[in-house]
Amino acid sequence: MSSHDIVVVGSGHNGLVAGAYLAAAGRRVLVLERNGWFGGGVVTRELTVPGFRHDQHAMAHIFIQANPLLAADELKLKAKYGLRYVFPDPPMMSVFEDGTTLAIYRDRERTCAEIAKFSRKDAEAYRRLATQAAAWLPMVAATLYTAPAPQGASFAMLDQSREGQEFWRIVQMSTHDVLCEYFEHDQVRMHFARIAGENLVSPDEKATGLGVFVFVGFMEAYGIGVPIGGSGRLTDALIACIKDFGGEVLANIDVARVLTKNGRATGVVTTKGEEYEARDAVIGAIHPHHLGRMVEGIDPEIVRAAEATQVSPVACITIHAALKAPLRFKTGPQVRAVMIELLPNRYEQLRRSFDDLRYGGLSQYPLVGLGSLTMFDPSRVPEGRATMHAWDYVPYKRADGRSWDETKRDYAEHMLKHMSGFIENVGPDDILKYHCDSPVDMERTSSSFQGGDLHGIATSTYQSGSHRPTPELGQFTVPGIERLYLVGPFQHPGGGVFGAGRATAVKLAEDLKINLPIK
Ligand SMILES: Cc1cc2nc3c(=O)[nH]c(=O)nc-3n(C[C@H](O)[C@H](O)[C@H](O)COP(=O)(O)OP(=O)(O)OC[C@H]3O[C@@H](n4cnc5c(N)ncnc54)[C@H](O)[C@@H]3O)c2cc1C
Repeated sequence: MSSHDIVVVGSGHNGLVAGAYLAAAGRRVLVLERNGWFGGGVVTRELTVPGFRHDQHAMAHIFIQANPLLAADELKLKAKYGLRYVFPDPPMMSVFEDGTTLAIYRDRERTCAEIAKFSRKDAEAYRRLATQAAAWLPMVAATLYTAPAPQGASFAMLDQSREGQEFWRIVQMSTHDVLCEYFEHDQVRMHFARIAGENLVSPDEKATGLGVFVFVGFMEAYGIGVPIGGSGRLTDALIACIKDFGGEVLANIDVARVLTKNGRATGVVTTKGEEYEARDAVIGAIHPHHLGRMVEGIDPEIVRAAEATQVSPVACITIHAALKAPLRFKTGPQVRAVMIELLPNRYEQLRRSFDDLRYGGLSQYPLVGLGSLTMFDPSRVPEGRATMHAWDYVPYKRADGRSWDETKRDYAEHMLKHMSGFIENVGPDDILKYHCDSPVDMERTSSSFQGGDLHGIATSTYQSGSHRPTPELGQFTVPGIERLYLVGPFQHPGGGVFGAGRATAVKLAEDLKINLPIK
């Protein structure tokens, strides 16, 4: 049996972040990955034609920018291990069917000028919204990279001041209700509703209202980070750091179970029966639906609650295309942003598309978003070429009972046809080759993405903060099983490139009574 201090199950960026902090603190770390490649949702691969590097899942590194991991470069991922970002401005832009565009810039006044093209009153309202978002940002950011405070105590604290009550009111409102309170113009409302929809929720869902403030606050303060060389450069930097401190990261090793002895995690066993001892602790990317079968001896009530966690009805389908030439938008060359949303002319149409998903159907109007990051980082393709990463929302289970393996190609063609209404060169003659991932493919690439939910489980309030994924599992630990720690998008603060493994490492270090290199 091989022996290490810490065994990490899964090489997603969160497991790697946790492993890297512990390796830097002097622990012998081993990371085991089921796939033949590393990174889980943070990976860059040649999915189409040799020389074209595609971010298979996450492409926009937003929330990790405020994490001290990068903000203070605590592990020297930037200074020593080659991680480099550019921050294109505007980070995000909507393109409407009628050819009008609306961008969010990092500079508030530039965004106001954009919104004033549609409504001067809404430009003024945006100024108020962005001011509020900036005021709340430090408080929000302070909760993202540490273990969550208890829900009850947090709400009780908010209830003690006018400002706290206003924050709590917004938290409980739907995005739609918030947008109607601030804005009058249909397209302005839709632009912000689509941004909130990136969290896999309809704007009409209650308790989603804060999302717009968090997004605007982050856009102004940090923008969207685009890693030079691809999203997987973050994974590469973390692996280089772990190895530099004597750790190992191994591919093609599928962990079947966490081994326990006397209520304490002691290692793992693989599907091939190989055992790896963990002297100090096991860190696992274990989805709550799998916890009961991967770890013996957990209280059945805890397992039941974990299995009852809900995934979003809004699953994702993606197209990765190798293009002969950079995208040409019909409305003109001003369309240049990290995230570009293709939108109808009427907001109601967007809301109805989310309703279609709620009932398990395909959206009448595709909710296509895209990124063509070779606009900002041509190193990812041969000279003069480009990539495109487009996504749309679909149900995980098709209402017609057909499998996604059988139908994804047809759906991808439907998406491309829809996109050709906005873009001149996405036809068969313009695309060298494309790769499509259905929600089922996503689940195959990482067990985090159950049901095609790219956030692991839905981001509803009852599955957020210290109740994510459940109240018992909300502190990255498993009651009754000592020295087992959890990482994943289904844990606080949720899906996305947050570098949340830092909080898990902090918790583990407190239990081991060791110091981490944190500032
Ligand atoms: C299509 C798509 C687009 C996205 N776009 C963005 C974006 O632009 N910006 C953003 O912030 N977020 C985005 N996300 C979300 C983001 O990718 C994830 O939230 C994030 O990658 C989760 O990281 P993680 O380390 O927690 O888990 P994962 O990345 O899921 O990693 C878990 C790893 O553990 C491995 N594993 C699990 N179980 C075992 C086992 N038993 N044995 C061995 N290995 C195991 C898996 O194979 C996987 O490699 C996107 C996700 C998807 C699917």
